[in-house]
Order: sequence, then structure tokens, then C-alpha cells
Amino acid sequence: MHTFEFVRPENPAAAIATAAKAKTAQQGADVRFVAGGTTLLDLMKLNVETPARVLDINRLPLDKIETMPDGGLKIGATVRNSDLAHHPTVQRDYAVLSQAVLAGASAQLRNMATTAGNLLQRTRCMYFRDTAMPCNKREPGTGCPAITGSNRTLAVLGASEHCIATNPSDMCVAMAALEATIHVQGPKGSRAVPIGAFHLLPGRTPQRETVLEPGDLITHVTLPPPIAGSKQVYLKLRDRASYEFALASAAIVITVTGGQVTRARVALGGVGTKPWRSPEAESALVGKPANAANFRKAAEAALRDAKPQSENGFKIELAKRCLTHALQMAATG
Ligand SMILES: Cc1cc2nc3c(=O)[nH]c(=O)nc-3n(C[C@H](O)[C@H](O)[C@H](O)COP(=O)(O)OP(=O)(O)OC[C@H]3O[C@@H](n4cnc5c(N)ncnc54)[C@H](O)[C@@H]3O)c2cc1C
Ligand code: SF4
Repeated sequence: MHTFEFVRPENPAAAIATAAKAKTAQQGADVRFVAGGTTLLDLMKLNVETPARVLDINRLPLDKIETMPDGGLKIGATVRNSDLAHHPTVQRDYAVLSQAVLAGASAQLRNMATTAGNLLQRTRCMYFRDTAMPCNKREPGTGCPAITGSNRTLAVLGASEHCIATNPSDMCVAMAALEATIHVQGPKGSRAVPIGAFHLLPGRTPQRETVLEPGDLITHVTLPPPIAGSKQVYLKLRDRASYEFALASAAIVITVTGGQVTRARVALGGVGTKPWRSPEAESALVGKPANAANFRKAAEAALRDAKPQSENGFKIELAKRCLTHALQMAATG
């Protein structure tokens, strides 16, 4: 691993002022925050990430989960994934989030991994993680060998001719269905970004994965007040039962009244270049009887624009079945 300076800022303002000296935003920047380190240190050992300065944010006061006056939930940036998943309020009111976090990684990793780090985890595309290979995301303009190469686990939704990498997070998929808001403090002040606008599609600039700017520190995430009577499910399909990323996953927050779907929030994981909220599935569900035929129609709508690559066409039907089954689990649970 290359040499780098390790710094422990005293407070968020000091962390932001130092990180603002970076040439780019957090991903790929030469000055980086580190939280649990389970993404960043991994990539530094592979020489994929080579920051000159690493700012340890673990001592900043960003590690609380609190109920807000409006009944919503505030989750600090450095809250560990394990603490989030096992928090009684999360388990009771935001079960889809607890299930999604527990479906990710391993118990040891979840004890280290943080809320903000999970939002910014990077793709598992094998070419991105191998510095001997070209990769537009790692080195813009070098090409995307995955398009003609190994792409079984990569995206069928939101890809471009420059990058087809999947966003690997489980947590973010649940947060998309819960309509979370990401709170950021930067050199120009604070701002709140809805999770749907936080991650970017690859387009012509796959190296830019989020709307963060140099110096931006994620301070916390908020969730709206829980929806009374909603049913929630996270279903993850993968090559083995644990310690594996999703091939397809679905996060559902649904309300069924008198056999009719009255509200639906649907997001997909493992298939998109970003956590994939599906307004198409949601509008196919609302106002319709909660039955298997309509759940399948919603799944068809969600995957209507999917584009297979040479090895990952199976994901389209897998994602449809995943979503249909998750809706059935939620509606009958
Ligand atoms: C073997 C393995 C298996 C895994 N399996 C899964 C899985 O199945 N599902 C899944 O969802 N995830 C999985 N993960 C990924 C894991 O969830 C992430 O690595 C973790 O959530 C990252 O959190 P962290 O705190 O360790 O991030 P770090 O490595 O500390 O940071 C990650 C990125 O976030 C930036 N950052 C951190 N905090 C902030 C902040 N407050 N503001 C701005 N930038 C910040 C860092 O600069 C860095 O760019 C796996 C990881 C490993 C190593
Ligand atoms: S899919 Fe994206 S991350 Fe993978 S090789 Fe292509 S450009 Fe790189």
C-alpha cells in the first residue's frame, strides 16, 4: 500500500476545511474521510484508491440515532450498520431497513461499517478493482472491458456505453423505498439531498458517483415518520445464502386496505447502476387489488427498460420474480 498521512480532525468544521482541499469529491479524492474503512482501506490495499491524506471521522459526534419532533428518525453518519439494524425503533417502524442491513456483508463487517460509508461504497466490478485493467470509472477514458467481458453481476438498469457497474448496497435500496434524505455539510454550508438525487447515473462520467463536492461531509440521514399500517420487506437473491452481494433484491413498503393497494414504495438492488426506485412499479400497484397477477404486472413495469449485457440477461427475470415474491411476502405478512 502507498504511504499516506493519517489525521484525526477535532470537529466537523476542521474535517470539512481539510477535505475541501481535495481536487475532487470523496470518491477518488486525494484527501479522504475514513469511517469504518471497510470500503476505503480495502481499495487502498489494492491501489485502486491512493489518497495522500486520510481523515478519521470516527471521533466526531455523528454516531446517534434519534427520533425527531415530527416522528421521523435521524441516523448519524458514523452509526455502525449493526447498531442501525438492531435499533428497536428501526426494527419496529423501518423493518425494511433493518432487514436490508442485516442481509449485507457479515456480522464483523457490519460492526465496522457506517451509514455514510455504506452510502458511498463502491462497485464490486472486477475490472474496477484490478489496476492492471482499463476502467472508465477508475481511470476516465480508458474504456469499459466489462461490456464485452465479465458482466454477469453488473447492471441491467441505468447503464451507459461508458460503464455498466452495479451499485452494490443493500442499505441504500431500503433507504430509497423509505424516501430517506441525506444531510451534507460542506465548505458552502449545509444541504439536504433526497436519496433519489444523491447517486448519479454513470452517463459519460462514471467516475462521479454522487452529488458530493470536495469537502462535503455527510452528517446524518433522516427518514420520514413511519407510515401507519404499512408492511415492509427486503428480499435479496444471491449466489449463496450469506456474505454475498445481491444479484437482485427488492425493498417494499406497501399499504393494503380492504384488499386494495393504497400506497406503495418499491426499490430494486443488484440490477441498477444506482439504488433503483421504481415509480413505474408503484403506479402499477396503487388502486389495484393486492394479488399475484397485479404484483407480476408491477414487476414487468419495473423492468420494462432493462437492457441485458452478454452474461446478465438472467437478471431481468430474476428481478421480476424477486419483486413479485417480495410483494406477496409484504401483502400477506
Ligand atoms: C467482504 C465484503 C462484503 C460486503 N458485502 C456487502 C453486502 O452484501 N451488501 C452491502 O450493502 N455491502 C456490503 N459490503 C460493503 C460494506 O457495507 C461497506 O464497505 C461499508 O458499508 C462501508 O462503510 P465504512 O464505514 O466502512 O466506509 P469507509 O470505507 O470508511 O468509507 C467509504 C467511503 O465513504 C467515504 N465516507 C465515509 N464517511 C463519510 C462521511 N461521513 N461523509 C463523506 N464521506 C464519507 C469515504 O471517504 C469512502 O469514500 C461488503 C464489504 C466487504 C469488504
Ligand atoms: S463497468 Fe464501470 S467499473 Fe466496470 S469496467 Fe466498466 S467502467 Fe469500470
